[in-house]
Amino acid sequence: MNAPTPARLLDLWELIPTLEPQAWALAALVVAGVEEDERSAGAQSVGSRDQALLAWRRSLFGDALLLTEPCPYCEELLELEMDAGMLASPLPGPREDEFFLSVDGIDLRFRLPDGDDMVAAARCPGVQEARALIATRCVLDATGPGGRPVDALSALAIDQMSERLSLLDEPADIRLHVACASCTRSSDLVFDIAPILAQELDLWAARCLSEVHALASMYGWTEHEILALSPARRSRYLALAGA
Ligand SMILES: [Zn+2]
Repeated sequence: MNAPTPARLLDLWELIPTLEPQAWALAALVVAGVEEDERSAGAQSVGSRDQALLAWRRSLFGDALLLTEPCPYCEELLELEMDAGMLASPLPGPREDEFFLSVDGIDLRFRLPDGDDMVAAARCPGVQEARALIATRCVLDATGPGGRPVDALSALAIDQMSERLSLLDEPADIRLHVACASCTRSSDLVFDIAPILAQELDLWAARCLSEVHALASMYGWTEHEILALSPARRSRYLALAGA
């Protein structure tokens, strides 16, 4: 895992508005040094992708994490302070590459969803279509009675496969139970590390660029020169500049 330079992090920050979040998550894995390129990043199961992003987030910003989301019932902003270390999976992900399920008279052999599946699913018009697409992409083969190949999955098969996939790739589906202080109703917040990391990187970039602005205005240094300063020197010069 990499401790990227501020310039590299700013490059990743610039990609946020240009990429769909699932595709941005793959670019982040490459900058984190977890994967060589976006192709290999896309082949990681969603659970391992998210655990790697979570580990990288902890190394960049520490363990304290503030999750904010509107209450689904009354829209009041729910705030959840937590320790990101608590969300790190204590167990290694499943080691098998393929799994089996019999449903509706069909024997299915399938794999776990990966980052590329999520990029494809994000282009679907709705949740049902996305689930069906993921299930279909993850099927390695499907055989009906007498061993004849089956082309299309029934709605029941898609439901059961989706359920199995979320159980098997458990680190991919982290939910946090929160009670709303305003309407007192409880809800499950889905913890999705990629958009959280993007939001945090956005805040970091705003701070970083305002420091560059302050030092460039004061000393006439270039962005490149300022980003190359160690954090200790940068903050000392900022203090001297009265910024
Ligand atoms: Zn509420």
